[in-house]
Formats: sequence, C-alpha cells, structure tokens
Amino acid sequence: MQEILAAIQGGARGDELAALTIPDHFRAAFVRREDAGMFAGVTSAEKDPAASVHIGDVATPELAPDEAYVAVMASSINFNTVWTSIFEPLPTFGFLDRYARESTWAARHALPYHVIGSDGAGVVLRVGSAVRNWRPGDRVTIHCNSVDDQDPTAHDDSMLAANQRIWGFETNFGGLADLTVVKANQLMPKPAHLSWEEAAVNALCNSTSYRMLVGRHGARMKQGDVVLVWGATGGIGGYAVQYVLNGGGTPVAVVSSPERAALLDALGVEAVIDRAAEGYRFWSDATTQDESEWRRFGKRVRELVGDDPDIVFEHPGRQTMGASIFACKRGGTVVTCAATSGYMVEFDNRHFWMKLKRLIASHFANYAEAYAANRLVAQGRIQPLLSAVYPLTEVGVAARSVHRNEHEGKIGVLCLAPEEGLGIDDPERRAEIGEERITLFRRHGG
Ligand code: NAP
Repeated sequence: MQEILAAIQGGARGDELAALTIPDHFRAAFVRREDAGMFAGVTSAEKDPAASVHIGDVATPELAPDEAYVAVMASSINFNTVWTSIFEPLPTFGFLDRYARESTWAARHALPYHVIGSDGAGVVLRVGSAVRNWRPGDRVTIHCNSVDDQDPTAHDDSMLAANQRIWGFETNFGGLADLTVVKANQLMPKPAHLSWEEAAVNALCNSTSYRMLVGRHGARMKQGDVVLVWGATGGIGGYAVQYVLNGGGTPVAVVSSPERAALLDALGVEAVIDRAAEGYRFWSDATTQDESEWRRFGKRVRELVGDDPDIVFEHPGRQTMGASIFACKRGGTVVTCAATSGYMVEFDNRHFWMKLKRLIASHFANYAEAYAANRLVAQGRIQPLLSAVYPLTEVGVAARSVHRNEHEGKIGVLCLAPEEGLGIDDPERRAEIGEERITLFRRHGG
C-alpha cells in the first residue's frame, strides 16, 4: 500500500495507478468473531471499543464485476462503529453470515473478522468489468448504502430494497482500512475543496439528515418550519441544523453543555436548549414518564421561538421519544432514525392521534439522496463537522469517545493519508467558501 500511497501523493495518472499491483493483504480495523461474548455481564456504558477493535492485516477480497477497489485516505467513526465494537444490540457476524447465503460474491463477507467503517474518502484503484462511470484515479467519497440492483425491490427507493445493507456494518470490508472494496454505486465525487479527512466524515451522517429533513421520503421541511433537533452538535444533528438554516427554517437545538451551545451560536443557531442545565427528567424512574417534564420542555421551546416544532428530528430514542411526540406541533411530524438511549420507546398515544401528528421512520439514504447531499458539501452549502482526527491505529479509542458522548460533530480517521490537510484539490474554492466556516468544528471541538 505504501507504493500506492507514494503514487497518489506523486500525482500519478489513472492508468499509472491501474498498473500498480493490488496487495494481497492490507491494514484494517476489525472486530473478531471469537470476541463476540467478551463483554458478557458488563453494562453497555462500560463496554470499551478500545478493548474489542483490533488493527492488523487482513486478506484482500477478490473484486466482483460491479465493484471497485478504493485506496482509503481517510474514514470516520460513526455510531455504528460503536454498536459493532460493543456487539450491541447484536454481534454483526449474524448480518455477514446472512449476507453470505445470498450469492457467491456475498460469501466473501462471512469471515472470522469484520472490517468496520461506513465512511471513506480515497482514490479508485481498479474497477470491475461491469463498472461504467468510474475509473482508476477518480477521487471519491463513499456512501454506505449497499444494494443489489438486480433486485426489483431496489428500484423505487433503494432503501426499501429487500437486501439493502449498510456497508461496513452489515457487510464486511468497511472503510476503516487502507483499502476497501465497494459497489460502484456507492461512489460519489470527492468535494475538491476539502482535505481527505474533511471529505471522509460527511457521507453517512449528512445523507441521513438530508433524507430525514429534505428528501421526499422524510419530513419534507419547508421554509418557516420550526425544527427541534436533538443532539444538535452530534453527527447527524450537526448536519440537520445546517439543513434547517439553509432551508429557511428555525432550528431549536438541544445539547448538553455550554460549550456545545457556544458552538451552535457560532454556526448561527439562535434558539438553543442546554438539556443538562435545564435538568429535564422525562423519566421519573425506569418505567414511568413524567408529563409535567414534557410540558416544561415544550414551554421552553415556545418561549424561545414562539411556536411548537413543525418537525422533531428524533434519534435519542427511549429517553426523549415521549417528549418529542408531546412537544411536536398539532399536525406536525416526528422523524426518527435511531434509538441511542434505548429502542423500546414509549409515548402517550393520546397526544399523538388527537393532535394528528405523524411519525416517520427514516434510515440512511438512497444513492440519489446521498449524491444530492454530497453535492451540497461540494458546493460549500453544507460544511463538514470534523472536530478531531485520529490515526487508524486509534480507532478503538476514537470509538470510545463517541460511545461516551465526549466528541462534537464527527471524528475523522487517517487511513493511508499520512497527515491532516492533504487532498485539497481546489484551494481557490476553499478560500471562497471560507476556512472559518469549513473548520468551525475542528477549531471548537475535539
Ligand atoms: P453522536 O455524534 O454521538 O450524536 C448524538 C447526540 O445525541 C449527542 O451529541 C448527544 O447530544 C445526543 N444524545 C445522546 N444521548 C441523548 C439522550 N439520552 N437524550 C438526548 N440527547 C442525547 O451520534 P450520531 O452520529 O449523531 O448518531 C445518533 C444516532 O443516530 C445513533 O444512535 C446512530 O446509530 C444513529 N444513526 C442512524 C442512522 C441511520 O441511518 N438510521 C444514521 C446515522 C446515525 P447532547 O448530549 O449534546 O444533547
């Protein structure tokens, strides 16, 4: 891989890259099948990704006709990196085994190890015989929707495909590695004004927020909408507030510290709730929710923006869903994609049906949505949320930081890229968009 890196850094042409040998092994971050029970008896909060994530060499899989090998310059930590590494809610090896039963090519994925990672930015090295739109030398970002496009269910909205999977979570050979193998329909052009690590952190979270708020499958936010965003400096929340601001809405951003509130202020968000300072206790004990706390929360939103939220951007799950459904405006929409604090959610159905609210389930994004979200990054309308950068050798430590909610925005990971700041192909465009805007989270977060 060092020869490939030298060629990339030396500006090798696509045909020169194509002539280089793909090594038969590469460095990767992975969890091991044999470790799936290692946290038995340990509470979820105490499970440490640094104990389960390994860095080492793995064998290079053969390339299918519809795939590409990509030299990964940088990747990122996602919450699914946490789920995989703490083996919750399930070890991911079951996903790989199920996938392996689908086809000969899919059988490559069932291995004693799972290479993790669902984001990436890098350079295409080889394409399979059926790939038309990409060639060696292309600089790309990678989205994580892995779909078999020969399946008819994939052709309305590919997120509805019966065999839709998240790359690096429900498939093997993820992005936290020096090399990855992906379907060609996961590739998107790398925004030329960004460094490798800035480009690598966006696809998963940015596309998810785009579908939830902007795409036709989500809440379809419109100008003037009040949008309550939980975790507004986190991965998906930080993109969500940008979409609300761009789309002429009013974000009401919820965070848990004054530092995070200050970061939102710098982003241009006026209505911020520090949930820790306010001390909301939506659950009075493990089984009982406290409606008076929902009311106190809803009242605070009204005080700040004079209205109830048209849309609630929901993902904490069990801890907040009752409050989200309650606080949402009559006829409004709660859109959810996750359940960080627990997936057995509970809400008072009376507040839901009597006020004609809607609950929309959302999950990642189809290729068109991911492409549109990527283009907004390339246009400088959505900024990367990169707040910290770790080397590939520290993936476990970086995932622990996400697990403990210590990070802001997104954590980037340098894979082949030897240092930060490389890969900026259009410095003039970068200057136009503004260094201050692009690096806001990097300067404030970490
Ligand atoms: P993240 O970077 O860790 O951000 C999550 C934010 O949620 C935190 O910054 C935190 O903000 C807030 N939060 C955590 N626990 C909370 C609680 N009990 N009550 C209220 N707020 C809480 O994670 P992320 O990348 O944004 O992902 C968030 C969730 O979405 C994860 O569960 C992830 O797996 C899921 N996700 C799903 C998809 C999909 O396609 N379905 C895609 C991306 C992510 P404060 O502490 O500052 O309030």
